[in-house]
Amino acid sequence: VSRRAGDGPYDIVVIGAGTAGLVTAAAAAGLGARVALVERGRMGGDCLNTGCVPSKALISSARLVARMRRAAEWGLETAEPRFSFEKVFARMRQRREKIAPHDSQERLEAAGVAVFRGTAKFVSPREIVVENRRLAAKRFVIATGGRPALPPVEGLSDVSFFTNETVFDELMSRPPRLAILGGGPIGCELGQVFARLDVKVTILQRAERLLEREDADASDVVRRALETDGVRIATGADVRRAARAGGGVRLELAGGEAIEAEALLVASGRAPNCEGLGLEEAGVAYTKKGITVDSFLRTSQRHIYAAGDVAGLGQFTHLAEQHARTIVRNILVPWPKARADRALLPWCTYTDPELARVGLSEEDARRGEIAVDVFRFELSDLDRAIVESEEKGFVKILTAKGKDRILGATIVGERAGDVIAEIVLAMQAGVGLSTISETVHAYPTFAEGNRRAADVRVRSRLTPVARRLLALRWGHS
Ligand SMILES: Cc1cc2nc3c(=O)[nH]c(=O)nc-3n(C[C@H](O)[C@H](O)[C@H](O)COP(=O)(O)OP(=O)(O)OC[C@H]3O[C@@H](n4cnc5c(N)ncnc54)[C@H](O)[C@@H]3O)c2cc1C
Repeated sequence: VSRRAGDGPYDIVVIGAGTAGLVTAAAAAGLGARVALVERGRMGGDCLNTGCVPSKALISSARLVARMRRAAEWGLETAEPRFSFEKVFARMRQRREKIAPHDSQERLEAAGVAVFRGTAKFVSPREIVVENRRLAAKRFVIATGGRPALPPVEGLSDVSFFTNETVFDELMSRPPRLAILGGGPIGCELGQVFARLDVKVTILQRAERLLEREDADASDVVRRALETDGVRIATGADVRRAARAGGGVRLELAGGEAIEAEALLVASGRAPNCEGLGLEEAGVAYTKKGITVDSFLRTSQRHIYAAGDVAGLGQFTHLAEQHARTIVRNILVPWPKARADRALLPWCTYTDPELARVGLSEEDARRGEIAVDVFRFELSDLDRAIVESEEKGFVKILTAKGKDRILGATIVGERAGDVIAEIVLAMQAGVGLSTISETVHAYPTFAEGNRRAADVRVRSRLTPVARRLLALRWGHS
């Protein structure tokens, strides 16, 4: 292994050019550090190439198809949309292309980052090799992300199937039927997309409900929406065996039922990319869940950090970005250190309607025996939702029992991922629910749903005595 000019020592070597790696590298270089970034695949990682961006681009087309089918609800003639599956996919790739320059090698190099293409492997705690080159650094950031985890289904390796790594680029025409293993966010989002694009979709979910991290009432709204789009949902489905059948696949469930489809999408979990990285040589501890990190994202080697999906703390682009910012800040300003585990983590599943969450759910509260008050407002009572014919869903906000402090929120509905931002900010800033109630919201907006849920608390706070006084004030006996 040779050592050449440009091989360091660097201030920071970043492994992986997904969100976590890109943000770390660009931010550190922007602050004057000597940075190298190593990527073995496509620049941009999962989010750009095989995750958020292509899935949201397809969701956008599928949403329009669904709205066209519902045109009569807006007083228009219903016209069955005419579309080609291939063109919808081409449009998705074209949208992705439009975002790609942002994450490109050129942009990183222009920002002063040395970019190396190839697989990185630690050979010692202070050095990695990439394609026969050695790179030495004072600090490392491991941002190698994750990959689809394959479920233990007998025969799965003998049948052909898609994962998020292949479906956006290798599915070339519309399969008449698609089976999806997994009813989490990826399975639900893509299941709805494919159903709207005229594929007969069956989601096989091992748990008793879709999106099992979410409250049952929220999950139920999503389930009904998917079923309206024609998705068949089998919950409590224990898929035992997969075998080739005709040109497609046959899945056998415990209990004897079998499902056949021309295509199969496996979306039943993710695994961190820890293997082949030389973590043993580096002395970096990890488990099946990911690289072990402390609150500051340091691994068992203090000069080596882990960020994003590989750290096993959650699988979101915004979390990867927050990790990157925390690491760069802590390297630059070592005291007082910023803790990565203090930030609130909202998330959203981009089904139609969307399901957004921050903080505690009602079921979390019950499980943890945390005393809460729950304030709920149905979108079917919200003027904007009514005029938009988008009345499915609700806003649910949890506060500490008898207190103003917000502990969590679940919003299901149109643009729920955007609407929840107000609650996230309120929680982050320690602003209580009464302030949301007092805040003037533009009428008519979906965000008004937050205020209406907050108003429920204000009304519920009126004591019987206050009610009686008010009645007297109005001259009622
Ligand atoms: C279908 C799908 C939809 C999603 N939608 C959303 C969404 O809407 N919102 C959201 O917040 N999140 C979403 N996610 C999750 C999001 O994509 C990830 O959380 C995010 O990409 C994590 O970023 P990362 O930087 O940790 O890892 P990645 O983006 O996975 O990047 C890791 C990079 O490291 C490289 N690498 C790995 N090992 C090595 C090595 N040894 N040497 C060199 N390079 C290496 C990989 O090639 C990869 O490019 C979605 C994921 C999927 C699969």
